[in-house]
This record gives sequence, C-alpha cells and structure tokens, in this order.
Amino acid sequence: MNFLDPSQSAALPSGQESPSSACAAVPEKPSLVGATRAELADACRSLGIPEREVKMRTAQLWHWIYFQGATSFDVMLNIGKALRARFAESFSLTRPMVVAEQVSQDGTRKWLLRLAPVSADDRGAEVECVYIPESDRGTLCVSSQVGCTLTCSFCHTGTQKLVRNLSTREIVAQLIVARERLGDFPGLTPPTGGLLPSAENRAVSNIVFMGMGEPLYNFDNVRDAVGVLSDGDGLALSKRRITVSTAGVVPQIERLGAEASPMLAISLHAVRDDLRDRLVPLNKKYPLKELLEACRTYPGLSNARRITFEYVMLKGINDSPAEARELVRLLKGIPAKINLIPFNPWPGAPYECSEWERIEAFSDIVFSAGYASPVRTPRGRDILAACGQLKSETEKLRARAQLVVEG
Ligand code: SAH
Repeated sequence: MNFLDPSQSAALPSGQESPSSACAAVPEKPSLVGATRAELADACRSLGIPEREVKMRTAQLWHWIYFQGATSFDVMLNIGKALRARFAESFSLTRPMVVAEQVSQDGTRKWLLRLAPVSADDRGAEVECVYIPESDRGTLCVSSQVGCTLTCSFCHTGTQKLVRNLSTREIVAQLIVARERLGDFPGLTPPTGGLLPSAENRAVSNIVFMGMGEPLYNFDNVRDAVGVLSDGDGLALSKRRITVSTAGVVPQIERLGAEASPMLAISLHAVRDDLRDRLVPLNKKYPLKELLEACRTYPGLSNARRITFEYVMLKGINDSPAEARELVRLLKGIPAKINLIPFNPWPGAPYECSEWERIEAFSDIVFSAGYASPVRTPRGRDILAACGQLKSETEKLRARAQLVVEG
C-alpha cells in the first residue's frame, strides 16, 4: 500500500530489530496457525484420531486458534490432556516472528514479519503488513507474495524480485499477529495498547490485499485465506470487508468472484492502453477493454457493493482533466468507487506526485460525474508505511551495519 514520503525516513524505528544473521532452521513441527479446516482435519487424522471424532476436534481447534487466539495447546481445556500433549508433540502454534514494529504518530503500525524457513538454505523470507486505524474502521494491509513479478514502473515492490508465493497459513497469520499485537483476541492483554476486543469493536475490521505481491498470481492460497478470514466461527471478517486488489489478471477475476467473492479493487492508473502498458506492464497481456469487461461481470455488484478503482496520481503523466473525463466514460455502467492515491515517492523513482490542485481538479471531475472519489490521505508518513518500503529500509540498515562490522 502506498502512503508516504521516504524523505521522512530518518524517523523512528521504534520496534525490536533482531539480527538478520540469526539463521532459523526449518521448523520440525508445522504450525497450525493459518490452517484451513481441511488441513486441521488432516492434522487430526495424522494423530490417528478416529474419523467420527475428526469434525468435532477440528471445530475445537478452530475455535481456540481463530476465535480465542490461543498460543498454546495447554489452554484448550475441552480437549483432553493426553490428546493436547499429542498435538503439542507433532504441531506448534508458532506465528511469524515480528522482526520490526514501527508505530506512526497517526497510529499507523507497520510490522516486518519473518516467515518460517521452507528449506535448509532459506533464512526465512520477510513480508510486511500495515495497520491503518481510522475513525470508523481499522484496516490491515496484507501481503500475498514475497516480492512481485509485475514490475509496475511506479511501485517499489516492482523493483524487488519475486521470491515466492505466501502459503494460506502465512497470509492468515498476518491477521493473527495483528490481532495479537492490537489486543483483538478475547482474553489477551494488548502488549502495545489497543482497543478492547469484542466482535463489534475489534481494532482490525477490514483487510485489503494491497501489500506486497499480486494476489491473483497466488490464486489458490488467497482464495483459501479469504475462506479462513471470513469464517464466522473464527476470525469472522465479513467478505464485504475483505478487498483483493489486482493489477488486472483478467482470467482470475472471474474465478475470484466464483470461488471466494471478496470485494474487488483494480489498480487502474491509466485510461489509455499505451500509457497503462508503461505503468502496469501486465496491461500488454490483458488490455483495458478486457479488464473492464471482467469487472462488469464480477458477481454481486450493486451500488452498495462496488469495485474500487485505484488511480495513482503521477505528475504530468496521468493527471489531466481530459484523463479524468475519460476515466468517467470508461467506468460507465460499473458500480465503482474511485480511489485517487497521491504517488508515494521512493528513492530513484522515475515519477513525482501530482500537484495538489491537479489532484483536486481531477477529483472534482470524477465527483461531478457521481462517483465518490476520496483522495487517499497519506498515512504513516513518519514510518515509511508504503509498499515495499519497510523491507527495503530494513535491508539498507542491515547492509550498513554489515559494513561497519566488516570495516
Ligand atoms: N498487485 C496488487 C496489490 C499490491 S499494490 C495490485 O496491483 O493491485 C497495492 C496498491 O498500491 C496498487 O494500487 C498499487 O498500484 C499501489 N501502489 C504501489 N506503489 C505505489 C506508490 N509508490 N505510490 C502510490 N501507490 C502505489
């Protein structure tokens, strides 16, 4: 996601930072945190739990892991002691490690998470997720991949190589970590302050897949993660409050609607194919016409359930009044919201953010045509809460530390 201004980068790394050289081993016991119901059922079967009991045990684990936020099998008192011990012997409830936490003056929090290594030479990939509190909601921006393959020319993650897809567990675990740190699970005291947890008053009320990666290039895991996140007996986020953002992987948009039906956001950014080809190279494969057709047929759309079109404001590139009018024309007939995003510059970025008057004029045209067109307020400016920036900053600091050690 995109909030800020790296010129402010000197400000506050307020969290813990663990040495990058700490080489974690592949965990012996798989963690059940983030598992789907089918995976929990398989875990039960692997312990020899009889088939007639599997459903009940799965439901118990589900409740403890996702509703209560349990960090140990010991607390699962409706599971007998001997069976709890067998679970603990074969599985863990380990979460990804919080490598860095930064808290902005405006309440935005950013976590850099280290995932468990998946092979002997893996030191544990890192992803970031960001929490943005607002008066009427709290949004968690999650990553779906480590790095990205899309190379959008204005996006910092585009400059980082794709390392791998996140598993369903690793996607879901981002919400678990956030709920834990914000005190969102019943019975947990927030370590860093936070709202009192209750179904109506949880700190995290919304999820957006707008962190690192292209969610629709990791389709199965994102679909299954939406299933776990929205399950009413556990994490219980309504699908209306889960938004998957895509640069426009057209064939997967229809599948997403059919198999998961979360809210959809499209990173549009341009109204002509020649320009969009440059900003979002995926457009060469799936041009505007096909993309908008896929949007038109996304299931369940209505005035109350609209597609969000994201449009990053790039000075002198895509910000003219004529382009605003063309945008309105293109979206005709699609229940849409337009989200104008001031460009977040990053070191070496080939673009600048549009002038404020230019953004306002653009927004006025869109608004007069009947669309809500909020300009996304930059958040977390003092902690670089932008896409890909936490990871890069942390790597830079480490590289510097390395130089000092070696020099
Ligand atoms: N791959 C997905 C989700 C990740 S990006 C997608 O493309 O939608 C989430 C949003 O942040 C996208 O709209 C993306 O275009 C935007 N974004 C990325 N870098 C940005 C930057 N530096 N400034 C403003 N918006 C940016």
